[in-house]
Amino acid sequence: FRYWETKATRTTCSYCGVGCQLELLVKENKIVDIKPAHGESNEGLLCVKGKFAYNFVNHPDRLKKPLIRKNGKLEEATWEEAYEIILNKIREVKEQFGADAIAGFSSARVSNEENYLMSKFMRAVIGTNNVDHCARLCHASTVAGLAVTLGSGAMTNGIADVKHADAIFITGSNTTEAHPVMGAFVHQARKNGAKLIVADPREIPLAKEADVYLQIKPGSSVALSNAMIHVILQEGLEDEEYITNNTEGFEEVATVVKKYTPEYAAKICEVDPEDIRKAARLYASCNAASIIYSMGITQHVNGTENVMSLSNLALVTGNLGKSGAGVNPLRGQNNVQGACDMGALPVVFTGYQPVTNPDIVAKFEKAWGSKLSDKAGLTVTQAIPAAEHGEVKLLYIMGENPMISDPDTNHVRKALEKVFLVVQDIFLTETAELADVILPAAAFAEKDGTFVNTERRVQRIRKAVDAPGESKPDWMILTEIMNQLDYACSYNSPEEIFEEIRSVTPSYAGITYKRIDKEGISWPCPTEDHPGTPILHIGKPTRGTGLFKAVEWVESPELSNKEYPHILTTGRILYHFHTKTMTDKTDGINVVAPHNYIEIHPTLAKEKNIKDGDLVKATSPRGEIQVIARVTDIVDENVVFIPFHWGDGANVLTNGEVLDPYCKIPGFKVSGVKIEKL
Ligand code: SF4
Repeated sequence: FRYWETKATRTTCSYCGVGCQLELLVKENKIVDIKPAHGESNEGLLCVKGKFAYNFVNHPDRLKKPLIRKNGKLEEATWEEAYEIILNKIREVKEQFGADAIAGFSSARVSNEENYLMSKFMRAVIGTNNVDHCARLCHASTVAGLAVTLGSGAMTNGIADVKHADAIFITGSNTTEAHPVMGAFVHQARKNGAKLIVADPREIPLAKEADVYLQIKPGSSVALSNAMIHVILQEGLEDEEYITNNTEGFEEVATVVKKYTPEYAAKICEVDPEDIRKAARLYASCNAASIIYSMGITQHVNGTENVMSLSNLALVTGNLGKSGAGVNPLRGQNNVQGACDMGALPVVFTGYQPVTNPDIVAKFEKAWGSKLSDKAGLTVTQAIPAAEHGEVKLLYIMGENPMISDPDTNHVRKALEKVFLVVQDIFLTETAELADVILPAAAFAEKDGTFVNTERRVQRIRKAVDAPGESKPDWMILTEIMNQLDYACSYNSPEEIFEEIRSVTPSYAGITYKRIDKEGISWPCPTEDHPGTPILHIGKPTRGTGLFKAVEWVESPELSNKEYPHILTTGRILYHFHTKTMTDKTDGINVVAPHNYIEIHPTLAKEKNIKDGDLVKATSPRGEIQVIARVTDIVDENVVFIPFHWGDGANVLTNGEVLDPYCKIPGFKVSGVKIEKL
C-alpha cells in the first residue's frame, strides 16, 4: 500500500495501561499499519505490541454472528434468536431464584461507556450488585490499600513524571516487559541521574542495571518495606515535618518495624542485609523518590497489606504530592482503571460512590429511575464458587476470559459448565467455548468511546473501520438488551452515555469529549474549568491525613505443604498480552513467543535431571500441567516461573480458594508446586 492512500485515525492502544496514543492507517476498511502519535503518556513512543499487534482486528477468526448452543453444539443464529434465549433465561432465573442469582463480569478491555452500561444493566435492570471485573485479580488490593491510607486508590503521579525522580524503587513490576513505554521513561530517568532500586524474585531486565537489586523470596514484600522503614528511622532519614503535619498512626508503625532489623528481614526475604540498608538509604536520601509496583505486590493473599506497607514508606519520607515521587501502581490492561472508575465493582457506583450509602443509592435511584439494592454484590472470586455451588445460575461475561485469567482453572471450568453462560466477545475464547449464547462484539478500532490509562487520564478511542459481519459495539448490545427487558434507554452514541456518566460522577464532572479531544485529562476534574489532576495529594493526602497502617509479614499458607516444595510465581512476557486472545493473532509475535515454558534454576534442573527444552510436569494440589523447561539463573534455586498467558498453563496450578481478606484477590504469585522430568 502507499501511505498517501491511507486515512489516519488517532486512538488509544488497546493493550496495556500506559495508554499510548497512536494512529491507525486504514485503506479500504482495513488497518494496514500503525504510527505512533504524541500523547502525554507516550511522547511518541510505542512498544512492539502497540506497533505491530493489530492483525487481530482484521483476523478471519473474529466472531461475526451470534452463536447459540443446540444439542451441545454452537450454531449460528440471528440476533433476535440469541436475545430471546437470553431474555427468557434472565426472566426465569429472576423469578425462580431472585436477582442475586445473576452475576455480570464487566471488562477492563472495553470502554468506560460500556462498563458504565454493564453496571447499570446489572443494578438498575437486573436488580443486583453482582458486577465485577478482572481488577479483582490484579489491582483490587491497590484500590483497597491506597483508598484507606491516602484517600484515592489510584496511581498518584503521571507516567512521564518518573523522569523527574531522583530515585526509583521498582518492586513486583517487570516494567520494561509489561509496560514497555513506562520502562523507556525509567531509562530516561536513569540518564538524568536517578538511582534505581529493584526488588523482584526474578532477575528482570531492569535488575541488571539497578544500583541495588534485591532478589526477594516471593511473598516477602512486607518484611522488606518494614525493614527499609526500620533503617530510615534508625538513621534519622524520615521527613519529620511531613509526618507531623500530614499523617496519623506513625507511632504504631514505628513500634512494629522495630523488630524488622535488616538481619531479621534478610532471613525472610533471603537477601543480603546490607542491600536492604543500601536500598533504604537510596530511597530516603533524595528529594523525590518514586515507588513503582505492579502485580508482584498486589497478587498475594496479603496484597492489600503489601500495598499499605509501600504507602507507609512514601509517608515516612514525605514522598507524596510532588513531581518525581509518589506511589505508582501500574495498571495492567488498557481500561482497568476506567472499569473501576465506572463502578464495575460490587461495592461502588461510578467514582467509587458506595452502594451501601443511602444518600448515594437515592441519587442513583433518581438518575436511573429504578429501585436499587444496597447489599454489596459478589466479587469475581466469589461469583465463580457461587456458580459451582448453584447459588449463581446465570453468568453474563463481557470481554473477559476467566478460563485463562482466573486461578484454579479446573474449578473455573466446573463452575462455568454449571451455569447458563452468556459471553460477549470478539473471538471464540476458551471461556466462550463453554457458553450457551455468544454475542459478537466490535473491537476497539471499530467504535468510539473513552479509556482511562494507569495515570487516571481519560482518553478517546475512535472508530477507524467497520466491525466485521453482524458484530456490534458492546454499548449497543447492552442498550438493546436493556430495552427488551422493558428498561427504556435510547443512547445514540457513546458521547451521550459519557454525558450521563459525568452527571452522576463528581470526579468526572468537568470532562467532556471536546476537552479530551487531543491530550486527555487526569481525574479528579470536578468542573469544566478545572485542568485535571496529574499529581494527587499535593499539599495534603486526599483523605486529609495520610494514614500509616502497621502491618506484619505473614508467610504464605501455600508454603506449608511440604509435598509441594518449590514456589511457582507467574507473570507476563513482552510479546503476549493477558490471555493472548489478541496477540496470538499476529504471526510475528508467535514466531518470537510460540509456546509456554517454565523457568528453572540450573541447580534445581540438575537435581531433577532436567535440560533446557525437556518436557516437565508441574503439579500443585489443584492440578498438573506439562510445559517446556527453560533452564536459567534468572530465578532463584527454589523458585520457578511460568507466564500466565497460555491455556492449560500456570493457572491450572494457582489457588483460588485462599483470598486476601480485604479485597478478595487470590495469591497468584505464590503457589506450592513440585516438578519432575517427563
Ligand atoms: Fe500499547 Fe502499552 Fe505498548 Fe504503549 S506500552 S504501545 S499502551 S502495549
